[in-house]
Amino acid sequence: MDNWIGDCKILVKEIIDKSFPLLRNQKIFTYESKHINFSADTISLFFVSRIRISPRMRNANVSELKGLLTHELGHIEFYKKRNFVQNQWANFRCSLFKKYRELEEKNVDRLTIEKGYGKDLKANRIFREKFKDKSFEKLKGFYLTPEEIGEYMRKVKRK
Ligand SMILES: [Zn+2]
Repeated sequence: MDNWIGDCKILVKEIIDKSFPLLRNQKIFTYESKHINFSADTISLFFVSRIRISPRMRNANVSELKGLLTHELGHIEFYKKRNFVQNQWANFRCSLFKKYRELEEKNVDRLTIEKGYGKDLKANRIFREKFKDKSFEKLKGFYLTPEEIGEYMRKVKRK
């Protein structure tokens, strides 16, 4: 039986146990969605979150998948650290202004690297460059490039 999404759920749990103590009590629903033109996204409401993953990621190896999932968990951690009003404000800003969306995505990338997943995040970005989805050109400016990830990894190590 094909249990790819089951493996994703196990990975999410492992990453939380190891690196996201704040998310241990968060109820996270992880599932595959054929209706998205990008790799994955997440949405949260109080103690519940949802992660949608594109079937395109079935072609990814564990490291490429880990990079993706850790980035999504980073979004949930940001959500948990903000109160209700701050989250409303952040969503509002990010949906209206590209500049804030870029800042948010790149800050999530930096958090992912600080937690020790820089290599996986970089692998995921290289994967995305290789297998461009429909939104690749539109979205690529919002994220750190593989080179920028490498730079930030070196910076974090020096601290
Ligand atoms: Zn993101």
